[in-house]
Amino acid sequence: MKIICIGRNYAEHAAEMNAELPTVPVFFLKPDTALLRENTFYLPDFTQDLHYECELVVKINKMGKHIMPEFASNYYSHVSLGIDFTARDLQNECKSKGLPWEIAKAFDNSAVVSDQWLPVQDFPIANLLFSFFQNGELKQEARGHQMLFSLDQLIAFVSKFITLKTGDLIFTGTPSGVGPVAIGDTLLGVLEGREMFKISVK
Ligand code: MG
Repeated sequence: MKIICIGRNYAEHAAEMNAELPTVPVFFLKPDTALLRENTFYLPDFTQDLHYECELVVKINKMGKHIMPEFASNYYSHVSLGIDFTARDLQNECKSKGLPWEIAKAFDNSAVVSDQWLPVQDFPIANLLFSFFQNGELKQEARGHQMLFSLDQLIAFVSKFITLKTGDLIFTGTPSGVGPVAIGDTLLGVLEGREMFKISVK
């Protein structure tokens, strides 16, 4: 199982990162060891600026390569919500040196995924409203249609380069409002009015 993460897929987030709008999707990977297996996240000691990025997550349910956008919807059936934890200080350092991002993005427990999944048949991705609260304060909120590249476009693009397999996860990018996490925080994700995850930071 692999975790594919899309970068810069919401215009306002690209702007807050001082990044140009991409003309093709940007993606990177996290290994399966990045999955957080409990509701507690221990702040790693290698970063002084750990950020949350709340994102819609889709699970691939069929193997595919060179998937055409018009057939992409055959390759997933459920959507969930997660966090792409990011060591922003390390990421900025990597970016400035033109280096890969793995130390900033792919570390253990950097991928939160709710164990609840909503069927896209009943919850079309474009219509989904998701919200992220830090200590009860709303920090991020967006609808699926605000993505710069739709999920089907993303699947088409990624599968040109990498075979998608059953169980792979796609993090579809974060909207604006990202920010730092501190010990003692409670991080809550809500999708269509449902509490999807509640993470304690220690
Ligand atoms: Mg992200």
